Amino acid sequence: MRDHEKPAIEMQQVSKAYGATVALENVTFSIQPGEVQALLGENGAGKSTLVKILTGVVRPDTGALFLNGNRYTPANVLEARAAGVSTAFQELSLVPNLTVAENFFLPRMLKDASRLTSLKIMTQRAAEILARFGLETVNPARIVSDLPLADRQRIEIARAMERKPKVLILDEPTAALADVEWLFRLVRDLQAKDTAILYISHRLAEIRALAQRATILRSGSSVATVGLSEASDSDIFEMMVGHGVGERKPTRISDSANKPKPVLTVNDLQGSNVDSVSLVLGEGEIVGVAGLDGQGQREMFRILAGHTKPSGGQIILGDRPMRFTNPRSALRSPGGIAFVPEERKTEGIFPSLTSTNNITISMLRKLARFGLVTRRREATFARKPAEAVELNLRYMSFKIGNLSGGNQQKAIIARALLTGAKILLLFDPTRGVDVGTKQTIYNAIRKHAEGGGSVLVYSSELPELIELCDRCLVMYGSEISAELTRDEMDERKMVAIMTGNIAAEARSAETL
Ligand code: ADP
Repeated sequence: MRDHEKPAIEMQQVSKAYGATVALENVTFSIQPGEVQALLGENGAGKSTLVKILTGVVRPDTGALFLNGNRYTPANVLEARAAGVSTAFQELSLVPNLTVAENFFLPRMLKDASRLTSLKIMTQRAAEILARFGLETVNPARIVSDLPLADRQRIEIARAMERKPKVLILDEPTAALADVEWLFRLVRDLQAKDTAILYISHRLAEIRALAQRATILRSGSSVATVGLSEASDSDIFEMMVGHGVGERKPTRISDSANKPKPVLTVNDLQGSNVDSVSLVLGEGEIVGVAGLDGQGQREMFRILAGHTKPSGGQIILGDRPMRFTNPRSALRSPGGIAFVPEERKTEGIFPSLTSTNNITISMLRKLARFGLVTRRREATFARKPAEAVELNLRYMSFKIGNLSGGNQQKAIIARALLTGAKILLLFDPTRGVDVGTKQTIYNAIRKHAEGGGSVLVYSSELPELIELCDRCLVMYGSEISAELTRDEMDERKMVAIMTGNIAAEARSAETL
C-alpha cells in the first residue's frame, strides 16, 4: 500500500436516507492505491448503499466523493467505470439472456469492418479475456443463464477486473466460489499494479488473508478503520454489533445412536452430473451436503425438487416410490418437499411484490376462499413463518426488492416453511447474509427438524455444515464420495475429501 500518496478513493461525511430510514450517516473513509481494504458490517449496516454511491447507482444526500483527490460525482455505473471505478456486484449484474461474450462488451458491442455488430469478433476477444483470467473452460458463446452460478460469479469478477480499474469494488465475491485462491491471486496482482480494492465479505478469514485495513459500518455510521494486524476477531465483532459476542456453541440435539425413520430414500439416482447417488434422510434429521463447485450437488437438489427429471434411479418418500414431473408435484407429494434454490434474484424473489406476497405466493390457492384471498388473510398466514425466521414484521408490507439480502433470504425460507412441507431442500441458504441472520436461519432450520421435519442442506461454507448438521455427505465428481457423522466432521478432513484426496479411504473405512 502506498500511504504517502493521495487516496485513490475517498468518501467524506456521506449521508443517505431512504425516506425515514437512514442508510448512511456521515461516513468517511479512504483507500490508498495498492491497498485492499475490507468493508464490514452486519446486514442493514449500509454496505450496499455505500457501494451504490461509489458506483453512481445512488446519489448521496450530503457529503462528497474524491477520486485521486478530484471531486467524483458519477451519475451511473458507466460513468463510474469510465472514471476507473469498476465493480463486481454481489447480485451479479450480468444480463442472463445474452452470451458471455456479449456481457463482456456491453453496452458497446464490437463491430466488424462493415460496422455491423460482430458476434464472431466479440467471441474471439472474450475467449482471450477468459484465458487471461484462467477461465478457458468457459465457452464465451454460451448464454449466461445456462452457466452454473460459480461461473457467472467468476465472469462478473473477470469483467470488473478486465478494465484495469483504479478502484475495484468486490461485493461478496466468493459467495458462490468454493476455490478462493483463483480470486486471491487476481486481487494480489491488481494490488501490485496499485489498484485500490474495496473488499466486502462476511468471511473474516478471507479478509485477514487479503486486506490490510478494514472499515467497519454499524447502523449506517463508519465506526472505525482499523489495521487488521492490530484488531482481534472479537474486537471486530464488537465493533460490528456494538457489544461483545459470546462464543457460540453448536446446539444440535439429535440422538445419532437411534436411527431415525427414513422419510426420503434415494437409490442409485442418475442424471446429468449425478451418478449413482444414494442417500437416506430421516425424520427430524438435518443432513448436510458438502462439495466444491460443480460436483453435482446442484443437479441432485434440482432432481429431488422436481425441477429436472432423473435418467434413472428411485426416489422414495416414506415407502412410496415417487416420480416428480415438476416442483409442484414434489411439493404436493406425501409430506411434501419444498426447495429453496441458490439464486434468490432470479429464482427466488419477486422484487416488486411485498414480503407478505413473496411468502404466500406458492400457497395462494390454498389460502383462497371462493377463489379469493384478502390481504388480511394473506397477512395472517404469512405472520407465523415470518416470525419463525425473525423477519421484522415491519417489513411485511415493503416491496421485498428494497430489503437487504438477509431479509430477502429470511422471506424465502419463510415461504418454504409456509408450504407445510416436511422435507426442506436448502441450497446454500445463507449465501451472502451476515452473521446474525445466519444464526436466525439456523434456528429456524433446527426448529423445523425438532418439529419432526427433515432438512437436506448444501452449503459452500464448511463451518456452517459443521454447526448445523447431524451428518454430512460429500459430493465429488457427481457421486457421493463420503458420509461423515457429526463427530467426524472436521474442516480439514472435509476439504481433503472434497478435493478428492482421500475419497478412497473415506468410502472404505471408518478411519475418518
Ligand atoms: P447492507 O448492505 O449492509 O445490508 P443496505 O445498504 O442494504 O445494508 O441497507 C441499509 C439500510 O437502508 C437498511 O435499513 C435498509 O433496509 C435500508 N435501505 C436500503 N435500500 C433501501 C431502499 N431502496 N429503500 C428503503 N430502504 C432501503
